Amino acid sequence: MSTTKIPANDPALRSWVDVPAGSDFPIQNLPFGVGERLGGGDVATMSRIGDMCIDLSVLFDAGLLEFEELDREMLSYSKLNDLILFGPRIPRYVRQRLSELLRTDNGELRDNHALVSEALVHIDRVDMQLPFLIGDYTDFYSSRQHAYNVGCMFRDPANALLPNWLHLPVGYHGRASSIIESGVDFHRPCGQFKPNPDAAPVFGPTRQLDFELEVGFITHIGKPLLGERISTDEAEDHIFGLVLFNDWSARDIQAWEYVPLGPFLGKNFASSISPWVVTLDALEPFRVAGPKQDPPVLPYLQYEGKKHFDIQLEVGIIPDGGTETVVSRSNFKHLYWNMAQQLAHHTVNGCNVNAGDLMASGTISGDTPDSYGSMLELSWKGTKPVKLDGGGERKFIEDGDTVVMRGHAEANGVRIGFGDVRAKVLPAL
Ligand code: MN
Repeated sequence: MSTTKIPANDPALRSWVDVPAGSDFPIQNLPFGVGERLGGGDVATMSRIGDMCIDLSVLFDAGLLEFEELDREMLSYSKLNDLILFGPRIPRYVRQRLSELLRTDNGELRDNHALVSEALVHIDRVDMQLPFLIGDYTDFYSSRQHAYNVGCMFRDPANALLPNWLHLPVGYHGRASSIIESGVDFHRPCGQFKPNPDAAPVFGPTRQLDFELEVGFITHIGKPLLGERISTDEAEDHIFGLVLFNDWSARDIQAWEYVPLGPFLGKNFASSISPWVVTLDALEPFRVAGPKQDPPVLPYLQYEGKKHFDIQLEVGIIPDGGTETVVSRSNFKHLYWNMAQQLAHHTVNGCNVNAGDLMASGTISGDTPDSYGSMLELSWKGTKPVKLDGGGERKFIEDGDTVVMRGHAEANGVRIGFGDVRAKVLPAL
């Protein structure tokens, strides 16, 4: 039996579990999620390799996960919060140990067929749950192209970016209660909006339902004390992992309500997150430099090293009973403000962050029209309808449409992905 320590990210690692070509979940990924076995079964903390979910509570019971701070409750609780409460040490141990157990040259689990059939469950037989009890949710606005596009549409190109934008990562506090797991459908929201600028507002189902292509990060235990800052140097020690995030938006409701306090009912009716949390550790090989920031930012927002990540993103629309059209291809690296800067800014006033908070990037738009991260931009406020492959077109999202987002990073023959996040829009109630 081999006990040689090989880093979990080593591109040469292979598993005795079959991993289909093009899978987002090779042995180098090993994300975390929470799943319920179909047909009656416990909810448990799970990881994934290929098409198989790995029930970590089963491995714990078999004595294969032994770490002084790891206990059974952390793996049988219906959310990941307990696992990350004490910072990166426990999940880091679990991921490294899983990597060892799944390696081709390790028979500890492989040769125990009864245990393998109990611990490994095909993804089709697992109902993935919301991975976290999300305490607080903050949404940033960190893509320069997105902010520029919105500024062009609602103001003018000469003043597209507001005066603060290049000096701080603009954000707002969102609503955690309506964050839903992938596969949960929702009804088109109703609200107040003003279709005719010269007439009184009306109430009804939004006519401008939109997606926002975002990536969110989940915080480890933060600085628990009110009043303490997290520096850009320390920030990544407080980031457990990343999820895909569709921050559903009702543009007409938003446009009417947002003055002067910002987004409210146009934003808080639903946001969808992917079930698998890909650790920042697994994404380590995909770091890239960010854009040069000019004008220079204040010292507390300056940072060293590569803190952006090259993660390819795409958005598809599937009309009811129809085929999917990919309407946008973007990349997480297109952010002006990175996660370390976002967290440093968030806490610079002493605001405390807790384990299980979610911080989202804001819509991620690249610099070409086919890489814009919302229908608002893709259809340029409804003036340029987007053609669908199966016929038809969209200015915004219609009833019966399913929106699906995917993301993956790839280098040295290793593909680390998120799977997808999807939701279908049902008619207004
Ligand atoms: Mn957003």
